Amino acid sequence: AELGLDRSGVSDAELAALLSGAALPDGAQPIALTYAGHQFGQFNPQLGDGRAHLLGEIVAPDARRFDIQLKGSGRTPYSRGGDGKAALGPVLREYLVSEAMHALGIPTTRSLAAVKTGDGVFREVFLPGAVLTRVAASHIRVGTFAYFAAHHGADAVRQLSDHAIARHYPAAADATNPYLAFFEAVVEAQAALIARWMQVGFVHGVMNTDNCSIAGETIDYGPCAFLDRYAADTVFSSIDRQGRYAFGNQPGIARWNMHRLAEALAGAVHAIGGDEDVAKLGPMIDGFADHYFAYWLPGMRAKIGLAGAEDGDMQLVLDLLKAMEAGKADFTLLFRSLSQAQAGDDTAALALFEDLSGFDLWLVQWHERLARDPQSTAERTAAMEAVNPLYIARNHKVEEALASANGGNYAPFFSLLEVVQNPYIERVEWANYALPAPDGTDEYVTFCGT
Ligand code: AMP
Ligand code: MG
Repeated sequence: AELGLDRSGVSDAELAALLSGAALPDGAQPIALTYAGHQFGQFNPQLGDGRAHLLGEIVAPDARRFDIQLKGSGRTPYSRGGDGKAALGPVLREYLVSEAMHALGIPTTRSLAAVKTGDGVFREVFLPGAVLTRVAASHIRVGTFAYFAAHHGADAVRQLSDHAIARHYPAAADATNPYLAFFEAVVEAQAALIARWMQVGFVHGVMNTDNCSIAGETIDYGPCAFLDRYAADTVFSSIDRQGRYAFGNQPGIARWNMHRLAEALAGAVHAIGGDEDVAKLGPMIDGFADHYFAYWLPGMRAKIGLAGAEDGDMQLVLDLLKAMEAGKADFTLLFRSLSQAQAGDDTAALALFEDLSGFDLWLVQWHERLARDPQSTAERTAAMEAVNPLYIARNHKVEEALASANGGNYAPFFSLLEVVQNPYIERVEWANYALPAPDGTDEYVTFCGT
């Protein structure tokens, strides 16, 4: 409905054929996009959609423009040694997690459909194959700019930039140097996005520059997962052995990615504003931190129930995170439990700590701070429950749903999907989905969605 697609008169079989690439919509000319990118810090000059086909663009009834892409649809010129396919498990993981992110209000690509192909996909063992239909603001990546800069020079980068500006940041076109204004807009969008990830405990897992969207959406869900117990050094991905993409590193990595974008844009910036404008890129990269904290701190204030702002609030939030880390508190449940705690019942909050590690002292400071804040207890409860989710795509629940789907039973997948699409309102029948990870799941490991 949002895309304005009308499926009346289209049978399930026809729909499955269209959404798996077995049949093409009228007029579609599918393409695979080329890009480059820094993967775990190393530049790779030639990447591209190795298992995805862009079917085309759709202009929705509200005039927003979307890319429709099939992922897992077979080999392309960029497949290298790969088979171009996707297994059902990773397809369903992307479906669940991207829709959970959307329900949390976080910019993300979305999942329109998952179709089983009936083929086996070999990943050490045979797994059921599937295709995901992904809907994105666009698939232009930081790595797309790197590709143009590395292979085609400043004029091509200007052409790509003009396209990206028209599509995502039209206001930049009116600036004295549009490419500088464009860069600043992308930096701000990335800072806003990563701040939101950090507020819900999301770990992307592979923040390579080819997985970094110019539009500022979360893209390329692979070994992603949400934190259970809070620890800044949490890594889930089996391939991230150095912890480059650990939870706490994500803002620094996003800044690093913006530095790579600045390098790719430097020639275009120079063509308009010379050395003087190129010299402005450095401070703009440094400005990532200001943008980031301008989104992160107000969001964290809201999470701990503050409507107003005081200088000490940053420290108060950092002290809480420190206590949570030392006491191994569940990230999602702790923030959720603070609404009861501010109303006088801190039993649930205290029970989340293995040892209190200063959380008791923090509660005292927090109550003192709350006393100086304008909202009533009831207003604050409502405000906090609207920003602190109760239900996230918990790792053990995701695994359960995917294992079951691999065995042919989709019921747990659909139940979990419904839960994560409604993250804020408590329902008694969903109590099971709000439980912390069972003991022994601390060492959760995710694998790339290949
Ligand atoms: P990712 O880290 O999942 O974003 O993938 C990195 C790169 O590997 C992308 O360029 C993908 O298109 C490519 N790739 C991943 N899986 C496959 C596959 N099964 N066949 C071909 N290419 C793949
Ligand atoms: Mg990718």
